[in-house]
Amino acid sequence: MALPTGNGNGVLFPAMLQVTSSRLRLSPNSEHKPEAYDDLKLEFSPLLFSSLERYLPPAMLNLSRDAKIQFMRDILVRYFPEAERTRLFFSFQLSHLLYTYMLQPLYKELQTLDETKFFVPSFLQAVNAGTEESFRNIIIEPTPGVYSFEMLQPNFCEMLISEVENIETWVHDKKFKIMRPNTMNKYGAVLDDFGLEPMLNKLMDIYLRPMAKVFFPEINKLALDSHHGFIVEYGADKDVELGFHVDDSEVTLNVCLGKEFFGGELYFRGVRCDKHVNTGTHQEEVGYYSHIPGRAVLHRGRHRHGARATTSGERLNLIMWCRSSAYRELKRYQTDFSSWCGECLRRKKERQHRAVAATKMELLKRDGISTS
Ligand SMILES: [Zn+2]
Repeated sequence: MALPTGNGNGVLFPAMLQVTSSRLRLSPNSEHKPEAYDDLKLEFSPLLFSSLERYLPPAMLNLSRDAKIQFMRDILVRYFPEAERTRLFFSFQLSHLLYTYMLQPLYKELQTLDETKFFVPSFLQAVNAGTEESFRNIIIEPTPGVYSFEMLQPNFCEMLISEVENIETWVHDKKFKIMRPNTMNKYGAVLDDFGLEPMLNKLMDIYLRPMAKVFFPEINKLALDSHHGFIVEYGADKDVELGFHVDDSEVTLNVCLGKEFFGGELYFRGVRCDKHVNTGTHQEEVGYYSHIPGRAVLHRGRHRHGARATTSGERLNLIMWCRSSAYRELKRYQTDFSSWCGECLRRKKERQHRAVAATKMELLKRDGISTS
C-alpha cells in the first residue's frame, strides 16, 4: 500500500509540522486598564501588548512595565509564529463578543457535563472502576500507543454538531472573522471560546486523566492541567485532509461525531521527541485508524500522524489537546526519551549493543593474551 508520507525506510519528512494553537489559558481581566506601549520600538504591535496584558496572571499586573514587557515578549517569541500572533490579536478583540454567544447557545445543557447523557455505559463503567484492566477491556490498539474506544452517545454527537453549525451561522451573521482551531484546520470552531471550556475541563479531569495515567506512564504523576478543545470539519467544501504533523499536546483525544462520510482515515508514524521529530519511520510504527462516529482515539501529542482525504460526505471530529505544564517544564531538563520516543529507544539499544560488543571483544582479547 502506498503511504501518504515517507516510506518507513529512513526517509526524512520535510513537511513535518507542529500544529499549534494560539490560545492563552487565562481569561481576560476586563476590569484591568492596560498600559500604553505605543512609545516603544518593539517587534510586535503595541496593541498586542495592551491586549495581552489583560491576560496576565493577577500577581504580574503590579509589576513594572519593563517586567511585563519582558514576560509578554517571551511568550510571544516562544509560542507564536507570525500568523499566530495576528490570529491571537483577533482573538482578544473578539473575546467579549463571543461571551454573548455563550449566554444564548443552542443547547445550554452542553455547558454542564452530564455523564449519563454524554457517554456510553461501557466507557462510564471503565472510568468508574478506574483500573488498568477496566480500561484495557474497552480499548483496541490499532497501532502501538493509539487507543480507541467507544465514548460518546449518538444523541450527544448530534447536539454538538448542531451547536457547531449554530455557532458558524451566528459568526457568519455577525460578520466575525472567526478564529480557526489551529494552524492547519481552516474549518471548525474552538469550543473553549463558545462557553464549553468548563465542561471540557471536567471531561479531561475526571474522564480522561485516569486513562492517560494508565496508557502514558511518562506523564503519570504529572497531571494534565489545561486543554485546547475544538471541532474540525472535513468535506468537499471544507478541509479535505490534514498533513503529517504532531500536536501541541501531551495527550490528544480525537472523537468522531459524524456525519456520514468516506475516507478520512488517520495514519500514524511513531512517537518522537522534539529532537527526533523528522527521523524516519520504522516498519512496526506504521498504523491506520478509520473513524466511527461516537468512537474516540487517545494518543500522545508527539505521535506523528495525519488524516487522509475525506473523499465524500461530511466529517466532524471533536479534538482535545490536553497539556501538562509540569511535564513540559520537566522535559526541558531531559535528554533521553527512550520510554516513549521510538528513535531515542532505537539509539539507546544501539549504544547498548555496541557496549556489549566492545566488552565481548575486550574479553576475547584478554583471553587471547592469557592463552598465548
Ligand atoms: Zn527522541
